[in-house]
Amino acid sequence: MIYGMESIQASLKKWMQDKQSFQNVYKQMKFDVLNDPEIKQLIMDHPELTDHAIDRQLIKLYEYYSQNKDCRNCPEQGCQHNILPGYKPRIDVVGSEIHLSYEKCKYTLLREEQQKRASLIKSLYMPKEILKASLADIDDHNPARHQAIRELIHFVNQVDNALPKKGLYFHGPFGVGKTYFLGAVANQLAEKGIASMLIYMPEFVREIKSSFKDDSVDEKIDQFKHIPVLMLDDLGAETLSAWFRDEVLGSILQYRMMNELPVFFTSNFTLPQLEKHLAMTSRGDVEELKAGRIIERIRQVSKPVEIKGDNRRNDL
Ligand code: ADP
Ligand code: MG
Repeated sequence: MIYGMESIQASLKKWMQDKQSFQNVYKQMKFDVLNDPEIKQLIMDHPELTDHAIDRQLIKLYEYYSQNKDCRNCPEQGCQHNILPGYKPRIDVVGSEIHLSYEKCKYTLLREEQQKRASLIKSLYMPKEILKASLADIDDHNPARHQAIRELIHFVNQVDNALPKKGLYFHGPFGVGKTYFLGAVANQLAEKGIASMLIYMPEFVREIKSSFKDDSVDEKIDQFKHIPVLMLDDLGAETLSAWFRDEVLGSILQYRMMNELPVFFTSNFTLPQLEKHLAMTSRGDVEELKAGRIIERIRQVSKPVEIKGDNRRNDL
C-alpha cells in the first residue's frame, strides 16, 4: 500500500515535471512563432487577432512558421520537405480566424509547365541535348546564321495568327547547328502550345529496313502526317529504297501538302543536290521523275534556307 502511495506521488511528480517541460516547450514555441517577422507583421495587420485568438490558434501559426516558404533555395532545401512536398503554406485571416492552406510552390508550377511543354514535343531517335535547345541560346554574332535566325523567328511569330503553310528547309555543311535549330523551334512552338515531332531520318529508315512493315510503322507514319509541325532531320544522309522514298516519304509529304501543314527539314544537300541523291535508289536505278516529284512536294511544304558557319563540333 505504502509502495502504491509512493508510486502515485512519483507519477504525480513526474506529471508535474512533464507538464512543466511541456509548458517550457510551449513557451519557447510561442516565443519563436511570435518573433517570426512575417507573423509579427500578420498580427500587426490584423488587430482582431487578440492574445486569446492567438493562443487558441497557435498550432496553426506554428505549422506556418515551421514550413519552408522560401522558393529561393528550392528545390534543394525547399518545400520538398514540407508536410505536402512541393507545396507551401499560405495563411489567411478572416475576422479572428486563421485559415491555413497549401498551394503549389513556384518550382512545382514551373516543373508542371515544363512537363506539359515536353509532352508537346515528340521525337524519334533525337539526342537529348537537342530537345533542350533554345532560341535564346543561338548566338547571333555570326552573320552566316542571320538569315536562318530571321526565318525562324518569322515562322514562330506567324504561328500566333495561324500555322504557316511552309516550314523551312535548312541546308548546309555538317556541324553548323541545323539540328540544333530544329530543337529551338520545337521548344519555342511548345511554349505556344503547338505540338511538333522531330525525327532523325537515318534511324527511322534503318528501323523500317530492319523490320517488316508492321502496324507500328503505319502508326508512326500516321502520326507524321497529322502532327501540326513535322521536322525531318538529316534528309539525304541515307540511300532510300524506292519504296521508302515514294510510299513513306512521298505519302507523308503528299498528305501534308494537301492539308497545308508545314514541314521542317535539315540536310547537307541543297534541293538540286537532294534531287540527284533521291533519283538514285538503293537498287541503283535512276528515277529522275519520282525524285523530282518529292522535291516538288518539299518545296510546297517548306522554304529553303542556307546555314553557313563554322563546324561547331570542332570546338570539342
Ligand atoms: P548539324 O545538324 O548542322 O550537323 P548540330 O545542330 O548537330 O549541327 O550542331 C553541332 C553541335 O553544336 C551540337 O553538339 C549542337 O548541340 C551544338 N550547337 C549547335 N548550335 C548551337 C548553339 N547555338 N548553341 C549551343 N550549341 C550549339
Ligand atoms: Mg544534324
